[in-house]
Amino acid sequence: MAEKRDYYEVLGVSKTASADEIKSAYRKLAMKWHPDRNPDNPEAKEKFQEASEAYEVLSNPEKRQRYDQFGHQGVNFGPGGFDFGRDFSHFQDVDLNDILGAFFGGGGGFGGFGDFFGGRRRRAADPSGPQPGADMTMEMEIDFEEAVFGSERTMKLTVPDQCPDCRGTGAANGAKRVTCPTCHGRGAVIGGSGFFQVRQTCPKCGGAGTVVENPCRTCSGSGQVRTPRTITLRIPKGVDTGSRLRLSGKGAGGLRGGPPGDLYVVLNVRDSDIFEREDTDLFVTVPVSPVLAALGGDVDIPTPDGVATVKISAGTPNGKQLRLRGKGVPDLRGGPAGDLVARIVFEVPTRLTGKQRGALEDLAKVLDDGNFPEARAFNDRLKTFYSRRDKLRG
Ligand SMILES: [Zn+2]
Ligand SMILES: [Zn+2]
Repeated sequence: MAEKRDYYEVLGVSKTASADEIKSAYRKLAMKWHPDRNPDNPEAKEKFQEASEAYEVLSNPEKRQRYDQFGHQGVNFGPGGFDFGRDFSHFQDVDLNDILGAFFGGGGGFGGFGDFFGGRRRRAADPSGPQPGADMTMEMEIDFEEAVFGSERTMKLTVPDQCPDCRGTGAANGAKRVTCPTCHGRGAVIGGSGFFQVRQTCPKCGGAGTVVENPCRTCSGSGQVRTPRTITLRIPKGVDTGSRLRLSGKGAGGLRGGPPGDLYVVLNVRDSDIFEREDTDLFVTVPVSPVLAALGGDVDIPTPDGVATVKISAGTPNGKQLRLRGKGVPDLRGGPAGDLVARIVFEVPTRLTGKQRGALEDLAKVLDDGNFPEARAFNDRLKTFYSRRDKLRG
């Protein structure tokens, strides 16, 4: 007993550590020393047990209080009957996934490691029974127009499906199953890469613990062969980059009568060279003549439905925005369509003929300050600036 280390010291936290600090400290130690990650390392096993013991006490407010008051004696032999024993070896039978799953809610929300820790372990309870097919995900590029108007696409792809020769059993006619040589029947191996060494489903037997003695030659015993398929995908109006379409039952085939998985298609919409899109709103820049902007008149504005003719008033400023309600992209969920925002910009005329040039020069002669209130205001501000400067310079 005397050489037993202080629990706070074991976890490397202060006596006033919060429950969260204790939990986080233990999680780090558990990840470092878990026997799954340190096979055949007795020191790791000891460290893991020591940390687990400390955590079991310090994570329980009652036990922690007792420990604070009476030390190790308090939690081992207390009158309250805290008889959880001193044998913590049961911890090592707990899968690392379970430990971490308990911390992170088991929902797989652990950053990029969701696949490891998300409780996605496949346990084939009955290796000869039906197994559902895996879900598959693919990406697809579509045109802007397809996203706005919807479309239908036919795809050819190859998916794993039940082997026709062995009907998904993986066994040649009459062959038996034997203990898996890779995991020796445990169904799991120590795997992962780098820091994240974890217990993983055995790749050889898929967790079943047994393999087929005489595998089917068509599928090499996997029970599945890559099968070409033609799939029709209906793209609804209003999809956008990142939209995910689900094709039920179009994923990998199931094994031994199990249902097929689903196919997910994640869309990537190509940019339009006319419109910019933000959710269901569209933006378009329409170049007009400065003469038209000065005089007012009709401007043709492109919308997905067709060209809309809109009157602009005399003296329309550069960059003026016109909003056409409901002329944007249809809403995927059936709500109102977005708007189309047209931005009117002048294009300065170039490559003037002599006659045009003369006309502009004539125009320049008859224009004055009053035609350009913005320029006049700017010049007034400039005058103020320089007069202040001159005063300062004395
Ligand atoms: Zn086969
Ligand atoms: Zn195996």
